Amino acid sequence: MDSTKYTLADFLNKGDEGIDKLCRKFYEYYEDTYRLKHLNYKRVSTSGSGPVIKVIDPWTKQEKEMIYFASNDYLNLTKHPRTIEAGINAIKKYGTGAGSVPLLGGTLDLHTELEKKIAKFKGCESAIIFTNGFGSNAGAVSALLGEGGVAILDMLVHASVIDGCKGKNVEFFRHNNMDSLEKVLKKVKDKYRTKIVIVDGVYSMDGDIAHLDKIVELAHAYGALVMVDEAHATGVIGKNGRGTPEHFNIEGKVDIVAGTFSKAVGVVGGFIASTKEIITYLSFYARSYMFSTAQTPQSTASIIEALNVIEEEPELREKLWDNIRYFKSGLLRIGVDIGNSETAIFPIIIGDDLKVKNMCRDLHDAGIYVNPVLYPAVSRRLSRIRISLMATHEKEHLDRALNVIEDLAKKYSIIKDRI
Ligand code: PMP
Repeated sequence: MDSTKYTLADFLNKGDEGIDKLCRKFYEYYEDTYRLKHLNYKRVSTSGSGPVIKVIDPWTKQEKEMIYFASNDYLNLTKHPRTIEAGINAIKKYGTGAGSVPLLGGTLDLHTELEKKIAKFKGCESAIIFTNGFGSNAGAVSALLGEGGVAILDMLVHASVIDGCKGKNVEFFRHNNMDSLEKVLKKVKDKYRTKIVIVDGVYSMDGDIAHLDKIVELAHAYGALVMVDEAHATGVIGKNGRGTPEHFNIEGKVDIVAGTFSKAVGVVGGFIASTKEIITYLSFYARSYMFSTAQTPQSTASIIEALNVIEEEPELREKLWDNIRYFKSGLLRIGVDIGNSETAIFPIIIGDDLKVKNMCRDLHDAGIYVNPVLYPAVSRRLSRIRISLMATHEKEHLDRALNVIEDLAKKYSIIKDRI
């Protein structure tokens, strides 16, 4: 295989037939492009997020209703009347954009209100907000590591953290494995001044929770800081939805709390919460903050209201957890492999790309919207279907999905253990 013969541009210009031909014999990157093309992975919705959405079927080109199990909008706050109204009012008052980067005239009173609110919600002294969670992680990690630091990463940590570590010293430990973490901590103990253990609170492809209590204890014993990415935890876990530190009763003990406003909060944006010193440092050294225009007024206002809803309407989270328990027991009864899922994210681990793709297509045809997760998002032997639940799913939606999954689990022989 001569991988030097074609550039990506050549490859993309070959047209459908060329892509098919080239992809089949080409190296990995191209193979993946080929697979994605045939998956019709980018299905277009005409309704936006909700338990049932309208989608343009990529195969028939017709609009159709589907039960939506692919959203991170866990509390369905994207459609909450309070978050919508707050956004509308803000756009009327402030206009459509912030107009500049935060340090050069783009900071609105709404931004500082949100920074204070998220800091308090996360039990931290101070916070800054970014226009997206990818940027807050990548920018903060890169700035915090500086020249001589080392990042100690759970091997399943999100891509945004990995990107922040580019050009930096990095060590990995086995997923949620404390022996492996300790081994790495011992190895780097005297080698670097700044050591930061970085984990996700809830893992986006597996739905399991970091052993954050143990991680903090171990890291601090070896002089390392801990950063947790609360993207999928905020609004979902902890009695009040404050996330993984609340879940483990260790609020105030995690050095850097990161997160997004794009999942259960239902808007878009990212944040870093920490000590005043670290936040001041990041406001000058996190390039994705310093050099990027501030959050839109309507997003910021909707986020503030979404955090109010999370605090004031716990019944939404309770409904989500009812759904999680119900669906999990259904999947366990069917006997598919859901790994160590503990939250609203359920993998059905299949480990066979073709079965994953075919099963997703069958689910699509049955009106169930889920996503395939293939290499490189996960390792090939763990390729899977990813299902995520919302508070606004009704039992009939869950039952319909469970019935279809049960039939397909038999069709594709993926039943592992029935309980
Ligand atoms: N962290 C995790 C764990 C995520 O899953 C994501 C989004 N997929 C991000 C960060 C990035 O967040 P955003 O989509 O808000 O940029």
